[in-house]
Amino acid sequence: MSAIRMDGKMVSAKVRGSILAEVEALKAQGVRPGLAVILVGDDPASKVYVRNKERACEECGIYSEKYALPAETTQEEVLALIDKLNKDPNISGILCQMPVPKHIDADAIIDAIDVTKDVDAFHPVNVGKIMIGDFDFLPCTPAGVMELLDEYGIDPKGKECVVIGRSNIVGKPQAMLLLHRHGTVTICHSRTANLKEVCARADILVAAVGKAKFVTADMVKEGAAVIDVGMNRDENGKLCGDVCFDEVNEKAGYLTPVPGGVGPMTITMLMKNTLKAAKLQHGIAD
Ligand code: NAP
Repeated sequence: MSAIRMDGKMVSAKVRGSILAEVEALKAQGVRPGLAVILVGDDPASKVYVRNKERACEECGIYSEKYALPAETTQEEVLALIDKLNKDPNISGILCQMPVPKHIDADAIIDAIDVTKDVDAFHPVNVGKIMIGDFDFLPCTPAGVMELLDEYGIDPKGKECVVIGRSNIVGKPQAMLLLHRHGTVTICHSRTANLKEVCARADILVAAVGKAKFVTADMVKEGAAVIDVGMNRDENGKLCGDVCFDEVNEKAGYLTPVPGGVGPMTITMLMKNTLKAAKLQHGIAD
């Protein structure tokens, strides 16, 4: 039997609908959520992500500003723009699309964003808040995964959860969110011994590796929920995840497709954070 497909497009549309309703209600109170997106350079993938973020803002009724800066923009120039946006009452959330060109220190950019406007939740203060479980903003990709699990009635409580990948933007915060929800969490990485055996124990397996066809059926427990965060290109240049979809589909209980799984959820969670930022800045309860 095939796995139940966890439809990120469908869940996103539903969540975006409820965000739009809340945004309209806020506007009626004179509060307009706004997102500023900074893009430095002309990385084609980054341009697509930024365009998708702009479209999502339109869909959710969120005001947006895009700053597409040339690759040779200096770090000081980007910091000056962030300083201006930090002070701008029309802007509730700020993000700088990563990666930035090599001559710019990504950490300096992240540190400069006001913590109350840090809708990517990359600032060390927000990262720390996630660690202690008292957060305003959740990192978008892991939060999107949690929303998908909730939508399909998959409760991490007491379950074996395995996350492959330990990056600061996906793997580590993902593990933390599963832990907050009482999962028994293992984080795997490139030095993990017996990776297949560890993964095969998982009731919930999250793959955030960045390698096409990395997760094979022998790494998956019968009936497990398999969440594919990966966004890779296969040998034909087609977008694909980290999971061997066809073979895992026959063994897993639930599976996210790529595209149409975690990707749309990530951007939807950015919209949710922008709405939350606007509320926080105006002292409106969630
Ligand atoms: P990353 O920073 O490159 O991290 C990859 C992780 O995978 C690292 O922790 C690495 O381990 C681990 N890894 C690599 N090879 C491995 C192996 N052979 N065995 C076990 N672990 C291995 O990547 P990322 O930023 O977390 O992104 C991961 C993937 O998710 C990428 O495909 C990215 O495009 C995608 N992504 C998707 C979304 C979305 O919205 N869908 C958002 C963000 C990222 P070490 O730490 O030991 O090197």
